[in-house]
Amino acid sequence: MQTHILGYPRIGSKRELKKACEQYWSGKIVLEELLSAGRNICNQNWNIQKEAGVDLIPCNDFSYYDQVLDMSLTVGAIPVRYHEVALKKSNSELDLYFAMARGYQKDGLDITAMEMTKWFDTNYHYIVPEFYKNQQFRLSSDKIFNEFSGAVQAGIKAKPVIIGLVSYLLLGKEKESGFDKLDLAENLLPVYIEIIRRLQEQGAEWIQFDEPFLALDLPEKAKGIYLYVYQQLSKQFPKLKFILATYFDGLKDNLSLAVSLPVAVLHIDLVRNPEQLDEVLNIIPESQGLSLGVVDGRNIWKNDYEKSLGFIRKAVERLGSERVFIAPSCSLLHAPCDLDFETELHSEIKNWLAFARQKVSEVVILKELAEETGDNIILSAFENNKKAVISRKTSALIHNDEVKKRALAVTEKDTQRKNVFKIRKEEQHKVLQLPLFPTTTIGSFPQTAEVRSWRAGFKKGNLTGEQYDSLLKEETQRTIRWQEEIGLDVLVHGEFERNDMVEYFGEKLEGFIFTRNGWVQSYGSRCVKPPVIFGDISRPAPMTVYWSQYAQSQTGKWVKGMLTGPVTILKWSFVRDDQPRSETCRQIALAIRDEVVDLEKAGIRIIQIDEPAIREGLPLRKAEWQDYLKWAVEAFRLSAGGVEDATQIHTHMCYSEFNDIIKNIAEMDADVITIECSRSQMELLNAFADFKYPNEIGPGVYDIHSPRVPSKDEMTELLIKAQQVIPAEQLWVNPDCGLKTRHWEETEKALIEMVAAAKEASAAY
Ligand code: GLN
Ligand code: ZN
Repeated sequence: MQTHILGYPRIGSKRELKKACEQYWSGKIVLEELLSAGRNICNQNWNIQKEAGVDLIPCNDFSYYDQVLDMSLTVGAIPVRYHEVALKKSNSELDLYFAMARGYQKDGLDITAMEMTKWFDTNYHYIVPEFYKNQQFRLSSDKIFNEFSGAVQAGIKAKPVIIGLVSYLLLGKEKESGFDKLDLAENLLPVYIEIIRRLQEQGAEWIQFDEPFLALDLPEKAKGIYLYVYQQLSKQFPKLKFILATYFDGLKDNLSLAVSLPVAVLHIDLVRNPEQLDEVLNIIPESQGLSLGVVDGRNIWKNDYEKSLGFIRKAVERLGSERVFIAPSCSLLHAPCDLDFETELHSEIKNWLAFARQKVSEVVILKELAEETGDNIILSAFENNKKAVISRKTSALIHNDEVKKRALAVTEKDTQRKNVFKIRKEEQHKVLQLPLFPTTTIGSFPQTAEVRSWRAGFKKGNLTGEQYDSLLKEETQRTIRWQEEIGLDVLVHGEFERNDMVEYFGEKLEGFIFTRNGWVQSYGSRCVKPPVIFGDISRPAPMTVYWSQYAQSQTGKWVKGMLTGPVTILKWSFVRDDQPRSETCRQIALAIRDEVVDLEKAGIRIIQIDEPAIREGLPLRKAEWQDYLKWAVEAFRLSAGGVEDATQIHTHMCYSEFNDIIKNIAEMDADVITIECSRSQMELLNAFADFKYPNEIGPGVYDIHSPRVPSKDEMTELLIKAQQVIPAEQLWVNPDCGLKTRHWEETEKALIEMVAAAKEASAAY
């Protein structure tokens, strides 16, 4: 039996990579210092795994920005617009690489970055390869070879990790029409062969190809290409041992394809899809080994050894122990680095957790337990594991009977407003008295360095609660005054008191804890620290009423209450794995529902429940979409369902395409939905138009991701376009998203233009 790791977090246990990259970008350190920071992280990671006793340790899982971009550079998929960057003598390969990742505005050049998108259903973002017709590829970087030789020098028997050829193509985007990216396989294969040949010459024995698409709905054509590519590779390299890594879902209908590929080992994700083990064992050919992904690479819970041993023993019985490999379910990139740094966590809860470093040990311990070679230390680790599992199941910290009872008692009626939208709409219009094309914003206003320094000061104890409170009140009041002045119709309080739209709520709810150092890479040097949902969720006290009420007291106009929705809170946290996500989500929904009702009681008549993560929560396989959408939509409706008809519920979504889920969006039945729309030039509205979406909509009329100030005329244009597909009485006017990352200067100018555009549209109507 052998153990292996598919990939290890590369940000460094103290976020060293983030710091080094940002210093390099701002010119504070030179290339050699950045490279040395990178090498240190690699060595640290390798040593952690070596000391833990892992048999096959990955290399090339390190990256200065993104592993997909690494591959693009390696195979020479470098879009033409960067060629000038490469030609500059003073630029290194890494400068070209960062230009592709982040854009390049220097030396009279102004080149946009490559597009970024989510890595499957994770919160990691990768840089999308750009493909052109008849594109030629060429080995263009030695990164992978340098990393392998670095490992050899460090005394590591490393297994290079490469994104498989087919997945690499499927991750990319055709940048011109008239061809299929899969047709590029023929041109790309020789470069893959060259890479593998060189690795073999360097002494590599094992190579891991990541082919996550094998666990997804595959286009028919891809299946043939899979066969062709892997047959070619195995023909070329009969002595090398290939590991084919699949993860994030089960192989399902691609199972017979996967086992027909001539590779030494097939890796499957038994956390996401434990059911597949039996099917795989029934069909796997004798020539293949099986890698069991039993330790959850995506979450922070301790492994249940007893349960994992069940899988391992079953596989050993059928295949013999030489053909069995033990691993985490996927790369540990998605887990925080090291639990040992969490010195302030509640000790009982800490005992239920495992971060990347601990997961590595778990994999090794599982092997020793399965082989029954462990000494007393291993046996006592097993006993402790059993105790931790029981402690988590039975702890009073987790279980709140009242919450469970309430969630069980939810009925369909709780998810319904009192009357249908048509009737609610009349009530709302009577109370709210808003003009045609009402203007509003999405919630946050600039979080200036000053605002952030107040929060830091308060947390450190340099500001008293009273001082902090009065500074926030001043800022809120100023923002209210200013919104009145420029003539916005529905105001917001500005969210100055919030660090983050999920963390703020998590801190006020029971059932959440926060780590000190539980960082996970989101993209490039950006890391997030998701809250941990460990137990039943309840709301001990109102969370937002104070600020909404204060803001409303400052003005005669309506102030919109601002909440994060249950699906988004769930999606952007580490969640419990001891109950279905739908149940956790329902508990959050009930807490938000109480908040909505309390806001209404406090006189707030417009309440927005943000759900930007609804779409990204969609399962990878289409067959599972409806089940997810059913509980996600229900959770939203439950959170919104407790108020009177005259209270107007808004929701907000961004980065979404709505075409295939528009029916479900309509079922959410928010009175008003605001969406990001400007970059698509209102195209996203078509889904609503085709569906004859009955409720009100605020299509974003300007991009908040850029400091650029849009003109009144261009926004008027967009509003005219919107009216061509959606009746004017249904339309609102707002930016794409919250303004928290913007400066006041551009925000003020942009919103003044936006209000003028709405007035013009209204006058022309
Ligand atoms: N209300 C939030 C804000 O304005 C919404 C953010 C989001 O959609 N991501 O910041
Ligand atoms: Zn948004």
